[in-house]
Amino acid sequence: MNKLELQQSTDGYSIATVGDLSSFEGKAFVKDILGTTSMELSVGTLAPGSSVPFFHHHKQNEEVYVVLSGTGVFILDGKEKAVSSGSIVRIAPSVSRNTRCTGNEPLVYICIQGKAGSLEQYTLTDGVVEQ
Ligand code: ZN
Repeated sequence: MNKLELQQSTDGYSIATVGDLSSFEGKAFVKDILGTTSMELSVGTLAPGSSVPFFHHHKQNEEVYVVLSGTGVFILDGKEKAVSSGSIVRIAPSVSRNTRCTGNEPLVYICIQGKAGSLEQYTLTDGVVEQ
C-alpha cells in the first residue's frame, strides 16, 4: 500500500513517511510533499518477477539507487548488473535503464535524482559545525 503522508512541515524542515517499508508497495515520489528544491527522491518496490514497466533515461538528472532489501538486476544500456541489499548504483543521465526483481521477496530501493554537475559544495565544504 502506497501511503506517503506528510507528518510535519515548517519553513525549515519537512517530515513524511511511507509507513512500514515491509508492507510498502509501488512507488512514492517525495519532492512535492517535502518541498525539496535540489533533488527528487522516490521510494520504490518491485514484486518478485516484476520490472519497471518502461526503460527510460534522463535529460539532465543523474540517479543514485540504494537497494534496501531484495535482489534484482539493473539493465543499463542493455547490460544486466546484479544488485542486492546494500548495492548503491549511480547512473548518468543518458544511460538507458530498467530494474527487475529477481528474488523471492520484493526489491525495495530509494532513488535519488539531481542535476548532473550541479553539486558545488558538500560535506566539509558545505557543512558548518556549530559549537
Ligand atoms: Zn529516472
